[in-house]
Amino acid sequence: TTSLRDFDPELMASIDAEEKRQEAHIELIASENYTSKRVMEAQGSVLTNKYAEGYPDKRYYGGCEYVDVAEKLAIERVKELFGADYANVQPHSGSQANAAVYMALIKPGDTILGMSLNDGGHLTHGSKVSFSGKIYNSVEYGVDDKGYIDYEEVERLALEHKPQMIVAGFSAYSRVADWAKFREIADKVGAYLFVDMAHVAGLIAAGEYPNPLPHAHVVTSTTHKTLAGPRGGVILSKGNPDLEKKLNSAVFPGGQGGPLMHVIAAKAVAFKEALSDEFKAMQKQVKANAQAMTKVFVERGVNIVSGGTDNHLFLVDLISKDITGKDAEDALGRANITVNKNTVPNEPRSPFVTSGLRLGTPAVTTRGFKEAEVTELAGWICDILDDINNEQVISDVKAKVMELTKRFPVYK
Ligand code: PLP
Repeated sequence: TTSLRDFDPELMASIDAEEKRQEAHIELIASENYTSKRVMEAQGSVLTNKYAEGYPDKRYYGGCEYVDVAEKLAIERVKELFGADYANVQPHSGSQANAAVYMALIKPGDTILGMSLNDGGHLTHGSKVSFSGKIYNSVEYGVDDKGYIDYEEVERLALEHKPQMIVAGFSAYSRVADWAKFREIADKVGAYLFVDMAHVAGLIAAGEYPNPLPHAHVVTSTTHKTLAGPRGGVILSKGNPDLEKKLNSAVFPGGQGGPLMHVIAAKAVAFKEALSDEFKAMQKQVKANAQAMTKVFVERGVNIVSGGTDNHLFLVDLISKDITGKDAEDALGRANITVNKNTVPNEPRSPFVTSGLRLGTPAVTTRGFKEAEVTELAGWICDILDDINNEQVISDVKAKVMELTKRFPVYK
């Protein structure tokens, strides 16, 4: 058979162009990363051909003896990585993992208490535009004026609304979450504590951020953010054997059909990589790089929500500069620096415009940037934010970005 390149040049052109974009642009989207060639090799394997509804040794299809090995490896490795005693590696995505948790543990119409999207929560934590805010009665907490989670508000809302589930975890929060405090509040009202650690999972695996497993009834994650694996989700738990069957049934047959065995194999590879000392050193660097960048912003008078970061991301607050997040995202994009606009606390603008940027260091760290490179990079970003309509500044920065990205190829 002919190669993909010969068979479908139209499609191949889009893949080639995306590869070039990834090499020549600096990726600061906090939820993105570059996975290894090994992960992609497993994901591009013949395992994609196999139906394996059910779980290892309990399948609804024949011929599953080899994919069972792959799924068991993924399960054992992710349990070791996070100190869990239960793992489901089948969720196709983080959102599907979260849907399964709700379906397993609470009923439609029950009350959930999660972090609001505007203050840093994820859509699936109860936003009205998501199934989580349509099927369940969603109540939302947020951050205080300094940008920290307001635990007093969490407790007050919990006592008032008596949720069946409290959701902790975030997509845009740069500080340490107090998992024990969340559990204490959940216990006061008899709620389940569900932690979505998607953003910080890599840091947690490396011991660089507190592990929620000892505190939560159930924990979910994506596998493609700081964890640097293939796109996908997982569900974990520790010390809650009564929940395991419910969680498995909610994934299959509750919400999904056949598992993506090629992706599960790729997850197994990523978990093996994440168990290495090299990965631990990388996650330490991710944090050091984020801190080095915020230092430059603070020195140059650009506001950072909460004044800094304890993890891999931070929020630039542009309210006082009177620049919109959208315009800043566009200007940086023209200099080959990819970021996403983001709402900030006390956001005066709509989510399509915003007054902030979310920046994260996982991808740049994976490609080899250390403090020296990210310090320089943060300076270039400030140059653009200081004079956002100056196309000369933008093109000068772009030239420097092109030079830097050439020195640090993503895939050698
Ligand atoms: N949970 C959190 C905290 C996230 O930030 C995200 C994605 O951004 C998700 C879940 C959803 O993951 P997915 O995009 O794989 O559905």
